[in-house]
Amino acid sequence: MSTPKVSRETFDKVMVPNYNPQAIVPVRGEGSRLWDQQGREYIDFAGGIAVNLLGHCHPALVEALESQARQLWHLSNVYTNEPALRLAQQLTERTFADRVFFCNSGAEANEAAFKLARKYGHDHYGADKYEIISFEQSFHGRTLFTVTVGGQLKYRQGFEPVPGGVTHVPYNDLEALRKVISEKTCAVVMEPIQGEGGVIPADPGFAQAVRQLCDDNHALLVYDEIQTGVGRTGDLYAYEALGVTPDILTSAKGLGGGFPIGAMLCRAEVAESFGFGAHGSTFGGNPLGCAVAGKVLELLQDPQLLAGVSHRHDLIVEGLEQINARHRIFREIRGKGLLIGAELVEPWHGQAGQFLAEGREQGVLVLMAGPNVLRFTPSLIMPEADIRDGLAKLEVAVGQVMAAN
Ligand SMILES: *Cc1c(COP(=O)(O)O)cnc(C)c1O
Repeated sequence: MSTPKVSRETFDKVMVPNYNPQAIVPVRGEGSRLWDQQGREYIDFAGGIAVNLLGHCHPALVEALESQARQLWHLSNVYTNEPALRLAQQLTERTFADRVFFCNSGAEANEAAFKLARKYGHDHYGADKYEIISFEQSFHGRTLFTVTVGGQLKYRQGFEPVPGGVTHVPYNDLEALRKVISEKTCAVVMEPIQGEGGVIPADPGFAQAVRQLCDDNHALLVYDEIQTGVGRTGDLYAYEALGVTPDILTSAKGLGGGFPIGAMLCRAEVAESFGFGAHGSTFGGNPLGCAVAGKVLELLQDPQLLAGVSHRHDLIVEGLEQINARHRIFREIRGKGLLIGAELVEPWHGQAGQFLAEGREQGVLVLMAGPNVLRFTPSLIMPEADIRDGLAKLEVAVGQVMAAN
């Protein structure tokens, strides 16, 4: 039997239309380059949305996956396994956390975090301690609980009734938080840099004051580091640079370098509220995902790798500033490490998608963060030559879009 031919058109015939993928179908990747069905080459600043942390098909990750694939794929949590135990050891040694729960995606990590915060509140303060406060424009995943905690109405509308007891306040607005936080609050949930919401960093003073307000009200502080974690900002996790320690932290995206895995990290005392039988996952902590993530963390121990993140940040930002000097297209370039957002000037608001599509035509892949912001989340080891090539292609795309409008 020959392999049936498929193309982008096939998508519309056989897939639920919740996505509208770009017109090309990539078939192969290596480092920060991708090739499509027609053999056309692309420079990749998207990195699978902050997932392909070390580029495509990194030889050490391929080796970790292959050797684990020959050993053991799956057991379920009726048994524990060596790669999961080793990965949990690495995570607890290198973060504030003492305990880890593994799952398969970001939304699942947040679902676990929010359930744990509720349960901890009930266990220690009674049934009235259930309120969760999060921030407008935040993104926490697509399950019913995570779209409810997320601060973007469009992801929640039409799915009501949603779980209750969730309040949203503006990000970086301490007074707004002070007004709603109370002894009923079981958790405040925040991204250290809002990713999907437009690449908006938390002010360090704000982040520190949120920690204090949580302490004053006996509320847990939950950091969603699904996008900012695993070296993306130049630290293993972004909380380190903010000088704030959360009680619960969620990680996914880059953790498996492209293999699906999520994790919820917490202090031992908080973990007690997830006693035997309180929560679970069939695939969570499977040997394949944990073996690859363990290798990712091992490679990240190279101090040169993390130092290279801020160097690449500078290269990309300088390149974007040069594009801007010639085309006056960006209102602001912001972010940290290799989570960079370039907000379009106001006349171009709503048009980020045009730049994505034209970039693809020119052989460079970038992302959006909302309709006004171009987002760059490339491999942490993207070669400098690829950065320069990619930015040159992006400039051609910018020129094309501007000329056509
Ligand atoms: C991507 C993302 C999620 C959701 O992760 P999934 O793996 O898509 O479920 C949650 N929070 C943040 C901050 C994210 O960037």
